[in-house]
Amino acid sequence: MFTSFLIKYGEIGVKGKNRYRFEDALIQQIKYALKKCEGSFIVSKNSGRIYVEAETEFDFDEAVEHLQRVFGITAICPVVHIKDNGVEDLCGHVENYMRQVYGNEEKTFKVHARRARKNYPLNSQELDAKLGEVILDAFPNMKVDVHNPEVTLNVEIREKIYLYSQVIPGAMGMPVGTGGKAMLLLSGGIDSPVAGYMIAKRGVKIDAVYFHAPPYTSERALEKVVDLAKIVARYAGPVYLHVINFTDIQLYIYENCPHEELTIIMRRYMMRIAETIAKETECLGLVTGESIGQVASQTMSSLLCTNEVCTLPVYRPLIAFDKEDIVTLAKRIDTYETSILPYEDCCTIFVAKHPVTKPNLGIIKKHERHLEEKMDELVRTALETKQLIIAAEEQGI
Ligand code: ATP
Ligand code: MG
Repeated sequence: MFTSFLIKYGEIGVKGKNRYRFEDALIQQIKYALKKCEGSFIVSKNSGRIYVEAETEFDFDEAVEHLQRVFGITAICPVVHIKDNGVEDLCGHVENYMRQVYGNEEKTFKVHARRARKNYPLNSQELDAKLGEVILDAFPNMKVDVHNPEVTLNVEIREKIYLYSQVIPGAMGMPVGTGGKAMLLLSGGIDSPVAGYMIAKRGVKIDAVYFHAPPYTSERALEKVVDLAKIVARYAGPVYLHVINFTDIQLYIYENCPHEELTIIMRRYMMRIAETIAKETECLGLVTGESIGQVASQTMSSLLCTNEVCTLPVYRPLIAFDKEDIVTLAKRIDTYETSILPYEDCCTIFVAKHPVTKPNLGIIKKHERHLEEKMDELVRTALETKQLIIAAEEQGI
């Protein structure tokens, strides 16, 4: 019965000029999300409200599922809109609405009417009372509860009249594009896609970089990362994925550094390269999936060493999360099943049996100094041979 949705969004902090930016970005994201759905839709803004209207046949559940991925939406309300043909006509529509949505279900309810147009013959309280009576008369299974009702029937008198009572939770957060852009270090693991999702939720557009080490890491490992970027793109919009061939850099570190420092030095080069690409692409920060103490390279001492090479802020949204919590979130956003596919990662191939958990920055820097000359050249080549893949949401992945 529904062909329209009223989109509710957080209004705190979105006043004045910011409000337009917020709303326009939200409309753009809604359009992007619905492009993948059956049917065609009009998304419009009308006196501080956003409406989605289906112009054709569409799949209700599919449209809701896609809208539920749009950051910035607090609630999605299926809405019926009718022309104003007087109070008696409205009473008929209300009865019809309640019958179609609730039928014979036993429910407590209240009516909540609002007038944006003060020339309507009844004021809000009179409307509440009148429409409440209509419902009580027509449905013996309905009871009034003004304090804690199971159903709140909202009646909004605007140019048209809107009826809605169902409130489907939205993704919350801020519309992507309102918060600048960040570079996500995206591996094939569980953590980094979740980290990207969390930062995107704050309105930040995400670009990504993946360090690939062929032939030690296979084409399938790269495909897995592309698939993960596509899943993140369902929420964050198209992701520009930069693929860096890291093989020669890793081999050179492997041959020239104490093995227990391998991971830290490798991570420092990853950060340096990611930062170079980030600056070239106007990103305002880096994002990783690190969490304190999860592995040797993520102790406080190790993070200090990795962080030291960066001048841009490094955002680590999972820093205080337990693995179980990350897994729960990964399952909810649908990255988990892809992340656990068993393809090798460059970090797991060149790994020491006993990596340092308390690396000393001074010593690490001393060892890196021996690498410098050759490494400058290897890093330059890696950047010059960088591949760009645009990962956008696809159906059925
Ligand atoms: P993840 O599950 O995200 O792979 P992890 O627990 O395996 O994380 P590490 O392998 O130590 O942890 O990596 C820490 C972070 O470094 C990752 O979350 C990711 O942001 C980044 N990273 C690691 N390997 C790569 C890679 N091959 N390409 C891009 N980024 C990487
Ligand atoms: Mg990993």
